[in-house]
Amino acid sequence: MLEVCGNRSCKPDAVFKLQKNAGDETITIVARMRILLVEDEADLLSSLARALREEGYAVDTAADGIEGLYKAESWDYDAVVLDVMLPKLDGWGLLEKLRQGKKTPVLMLTARDAARDRVHGLDAGADDYVVKPFDLSELLARLRALIRRAAGHTQHLIEIGEVRIDTAGRTVCRGGEPVTLTAREYSLLEFLALHQHKVVTRTMLYEHLFDEDDSTFSNLLDVHVSNLRKKLGAEFITTRRGHGYCID
Ligand code: CA
Repeated sequence: MLEVCGNRSCKPDAVFKLQKNAGDETITIVARMRILLVEDEADLLSSLARALREEGYAVDTAADGIEGLYKAESWDYDAVVLDVMLPKLDGWGLLEKLRQGKKTPVLMLTARDAARDRVHGLDAGADDYVVKPFDLSELLARLRALIRRAAGHTQHLIEIGEVRIDTAGRTVCRGGEPVTLTAREYSLLEFLALHQHKVVTRTMLYEHLFDEDDSTFSNLLDVHVSNLRKKLGAEFITTRRGHGYCID
């Protein structure tokens, strides 16, 4: 299995080389939920971004409130992880402006465990919060829950026909038998499943599953869909010509 990575350390040249030499091997591309992380503490920003990428998320970053607001308004992120204390525009200000136009799920990072702050955050339109210093596994669990809720799924199990997706464990069964997916195939499947009965355009897939430094290889999206059909059934994902993909 050859994996074409899309993180910041992977230069387009290297990706192209991997692609060219791939032959008949399975090529996987980065296909993930896309998160915006707004945090001005450089160490925390980089360590959190790394942790989120290791979990399979595409991660864009911003180091102040103005840059964060610009990015949050420019893209349809699956979620924003937003620090409260930020230069230029603080987290509350960013959230207030964002909520004038977008419902993007927002997880606040608050340094103070004051009830006043939590009430303020939830009133202002935050979807959830964690208190610094936070436990990474708790932040990841809350983020997963936030994305599921935003997509209208309050349970971590999604059942579509004989296919069952466990978004907490990131595992998939078909007819009770476990199905082995690459991390990228899983992310693509989960995104389509969270939008069941809706047509997901290729543009949406790229916006949600690739981060700002990824190169795009449109042909590889078809490879992933093809692999998922082999594993989950030819009819599982429908192609809507000229529109995109759909799971009914
Ligand atoms: Ca801060």
